[in-house]
Amino acid sequence: MKISNRTTTSQALYYENSTYSKAKIKGVFSFPEGLYVCTDMSPFHPEDYLGGDQPGDKGKIVIQGKTYKVEDSRIIIIDINTRKNVFPKSKSAFYKGLQEGIYIAMIGHFIIDDLNSLNENSLIDLDCELYVDEKFRENLSKTHTTVHLMSIILNEELASFWKKEVDFKDDLNNPNFDALAIQKSKIYTYYATDVYRIGKSLSKKGFDLVKFKSLDFKKFSIELSSSLNKLIDINKSSKVSMFGDNIQLGAKRNFKVKINDRFVTIPCGGTHVSSLSQLPKVTVDCFYNEEEKTLSIKTQLI
Ligand SMILES: [Zn+2]
Repeated sequence: MKISNRTTTSQALYYENSTYSKAKIKGVFSFPEGLYVCTDMSPFHPEDYLGGDQPGDKGKIVIQGKTYKVEDSRIIIIDINTRKNVFPKSKSAFYKGLQEGIYIAMIGHFIIDDLNSLNENSLIDLDCELYVDEKFRENLSKTHTTVHLMSIILNEELASFWKKEVDFKDDLNNPNFDALAIQKSKIYTYYATDVYRIGKSLSKKGFDLVKFKSLDFKKFSIELSSSLNKLIDINKSSKVSMFGDNIQLGAKRNFKVKINDRFVTIPCGGTHVSSLSQLPKVTVDCFYNEEEKTLSIKTQLI
């Protein structure tokens, strides 16, 4: 492991949808299977080991005229005092450490080929060029955007399932089922899976479990698909914007889009399309598991 003396948290250029940049190598972490090369800035969206839903970008890095394949990318967190790679136990511990200046976070690019020619000591402070695999990124951005729209539709379709007033609403003024029940979410290039916990805690907040369980989930899936496609079609001229405090890795970022003449903002640091006109038709499939008390939703691009 080698870190530059002047290392700071990486500038996350993917927050602004970049797919290329020049950068300086600031850290190199060697593992038996390959190297993570960390840079002062990067257009690569890194996987967040703390449970981020979007996978790390792939692409290539050019160092001293030689091109290396970047197989994956991830957030590398360093304790400023020990200068070692650390794994905070929770997102809040990570953000707290970042704010207090105990941690710095860097975008690590995973390289496995030509290891013999990459000596970690000689790489520090070298210039490089970073190229994201644009097709891979574009598909992830499409899926990620679609998942946000699916959550808006889901909140709307389930709005009548709440027996009492819910304080936590989305920007279309529907009870925010998505945010209240989400357990895990994973984004892939052509589809995404979301798992919602339909248990006692949701019931206590006023969600009608009896009515929900009596749903015909096949029919419900068809309704969700139809509403989602309609929403995309009606709002296809809407532009997507991403904004936040700054573009440092770990900064608070938001996704914003105009839906039915209202602005919807969702906290998110992933990548998205720039206009809803880029989205294809989609299908939504729901599956309720009574034993696990979960609703699984697969949102797929056609
Ligand atoms: Zn997002």
